[in-house]
Amino acid sequence: MIKNAEELLTLSSSSKEESGLGMIRNGAVAIQVEKIFWIGKTEELPKEFCLSTGGQEIDATGKVVMPGLIDSHTHLIFAGSRENEFEQRIQGLSYLEIAERGGGILSTVEATRKASFDELLLLGKKRLDRMLSRGVTTVEAKSGYGLSLHDEMKILKVTKALQEVHPVEIVPTFLGAHTLPKEFRDARTRYIDLLIQEMIPRVAQERLAEFCDVFCEEKAFTLEESRKILETGKEYGLKPKIHADQLSPGGGAELAAEVGAFSADHLEYVSQTGIERMAEKGVIAVLLPGASFFLSMKKLPPVREMIQKGVCISLATDLNPGSSMTESLPLMMTMGCAMYKMVPREVIRGTTVHAARSMGREKEMGSLEAGRQADILLLDIPNYRYLPYHFGVDHVEKVIKKGKVVYQRPM
Ligand SMILES: [Zn+2]
Repeated sequence: MIKNAEELLTLSSSSKEESGLGMIRNGAVAIQVEKIFWIGKTEELPKEFCLSTGGQEIDATGKVVMPGLIDSHTHLIFAGSRENEFEQRIQGLSYLEIAERGGGILSTVEATRKASFDELLLLGKKRLDRMLSRGVTTVEAKSGYGLSLHDEMKILKVTKALQEVHPVEIVPTFLGAHTLPKEFRDARTRYIDLLIQEMIPRVAQERLAEFCDVFCEEKAFTLEESRKILETGKEYGLKPKIHADQLSPGGGAELAAEVGAFSADHLEYVSQTGIERMAEKGVIAVLLPGASFFLSMKKLPPVREMIQKGVCISLATDLNPGSSMTESLPLMMTMGCAMYKMVPREVIRGTTVHAARSMGREKEMGSLEAGRQADILLLDIPNYRYLPYHFGVDHVEKVIKKGKVVYQRPM
């Protein structure tokens, strides 16, 4: 039982409360086993709950209580790091020059292929620990640094094993179509065939992924190839997602709507038609300000226009070693405000309810309502606007995942 919260943000869609966050002042939440049993004002807590024995009571006086954060786009499992490349880019080297010196995405593929299952498991565990201490209770995790049947399966099996040992819930995505592996440099159709004929069927058969993603971009996979991969994924029960329109306007958002994708991600160069199609079909825009920030990209996605046209925005870390080496979703919230001019309530929705929708999990998480999973944060801040405002430090005091306290800030 949590009592006396200064601001309890329920994010409930039925609430007409003016902040848009379903706020309850002096709020209380009663939890039973994994789920929320009752939610409301502390003074209205039914008497019988207060008397129940054996329960734990948490006093949230002066604090904000809200749903656990959901990171809707990460490349969780990879080996190696690319800080040398970071320094080279600061000094003015181009992507191509860095790749020529052995850097870039293929260097991560090489390191990940060399890494053992246990090494990857440990790296993944450490990353999940860092996320949890920043308030993340669910994370989407893409494969994509293996790019062979064996190595993609290895990454997805590590992801599955992590779920057994870590409280952060993981939603696995197959991203075999991340880039072309170097052994297929001159044989792209053969790699597409491998994806379609072997990798997708195996991943689906072994139930190692829930979503299938494609990097749809001039430098990666064409619109036609992306359509083929996503349609094949659908035939095998993998739900579609797309890396779309990041570096050039390529029709990725339109394709997302066409194939019924849950989300289109990046979207710096999304077209007018793309925005309209996404709004019509309810495709969530997953925006990744960390990558724009880290790569000093001038072009930002047309966020206000998307919101005005009815597209729901989610914000995510894009955790990856090349363009966004961070586990901090609260930092992305600050970037959403400062770079995208989203207001605090919008970035909070973007990392809770909208993030849950981007993975089809909105009936279980993302809001605090009776019957939903008890994924709850206790934040040591006076009000919700303070969260993105005081940035780069941790405000998380406690994290509850499925009814259990799984993180407690050291005193
Ligand atoms: Zn990504």
